Parts: sequence; C-alpha cells; structure tokens
Amino acid sequence: MLILLDRDGVLNEDRPDFVKNPGELIMIPGAAEAVARLKSAGHHLAIVTNQSCIGRGIISDEMLDQIHSKLLQAIRSAGGDIDHIYVAPDAPWEASENRKPGAGMIYQALDRFRTLPEKAVMIGDAKRDLQAAAKAGVHRILVQTGKGVKTQKEGLDQNLMPVSVAANLAEAADFIDQGRYT
Ligand SMILES: [Mg+2]
Repeated sequence: MLILLDRDGVLNEDRPDFVKNPGELIMIPGAAEAVARLKSAGHHLAIVTNQSCIGRGIISDEMLDQIHSKLLQAIRSAGGDIDHIYVAPDAPWEASENRKPGAGMIYQALDRFRTLPEKAVMIGDAKRDLQAAAKAGVHRILVQTGKGVKTQKEGLDQNLMPVSVAANLAEAADFIDQGRYT
C-alpha cells in the first residue's frame, strides 16, 4: 500500500505556533517505530504536510530541510524510512490545490508510486487531512494524537466517512497490518 502521513500531530507533536527549528521537533512516542514497522511490511511511505510557515515568511526552505533531517534521523534510528516528503508551503490566503484540504499532494504521490486510490491510506489528525483524502478517494485514518481528539469532537461530515479512528500512529499501523481500515 501507499501510506500517506500527515506530519504535525501524527509523527511529531503539533505546535500552534509551528515547528520553527529542529529543537521544536518533538517526536510522538512510538511514531518512529510505527513507521519502521510499516516500512518493513513493504509499504511505500510518504509525508504529506502543509507548512504555511514558509509562505508566511516565518521559516526558510533551508530551515525546513534541517527540521526534516532531524525527523528522518529519528525515523531511521528506529529502523524506518520515508520514501518522499511532499510539502505545501502555501500561505492560506494564496493556497494552491496542493495545500490540504486540496488533494494536489496526494495526486502527486499516487502518480509517483503508481498506486490506485483504493490502495492508499491517509493518516492525519485534522479535518483537512480527511477532506484531502476523501477528494482523492484514498482511505482515511484519523489519529487521536495532535488535534485528533478535537477533530473527532467537532464531528465529521458524512461525505468524509468512513473514517477509522486510531489512538496514534502505532494503532493505525495495526489497522493496516490487519486490513482493519474501512
Ligand atoms: Mg496535523
């Protein structure tokens, strides 16, 4: 399968004021190990992340590279890897179709990995992750880390369903292992 991972709130702790340097990147416990498990099961893994902090002029592309180096290092230390990182740098007021809830990054990933939507799953903590996934026709897992509980409490529109809800990325990986996503 192709596993599409939102970054903030799924792999690392979400910060309302953005992850602005490597020091602010704190891995969610068990996330790197879950990536390693998915990778060794033979899945393709891509990160699909909105980073409006670039478009807003808060951090540079170089700083984002440094943050991602730290993220990849944490994942590789656990024995995992990520095949590709898609970033939508757009500020919300000039958003392209790449910025979630747009599905641009998901379409690019499906194309790159030559995967049909029904063989892909998006794992995210925010409604816009689920909206982007629904638009592209890929499966959807909401994790309760990051903004996940808030997203769940706010309620999900019928057009986003079905959505599987997992406590965290480790449980989402269990769902995928067992074919238990809907
Ligand atoms: Mg998120």
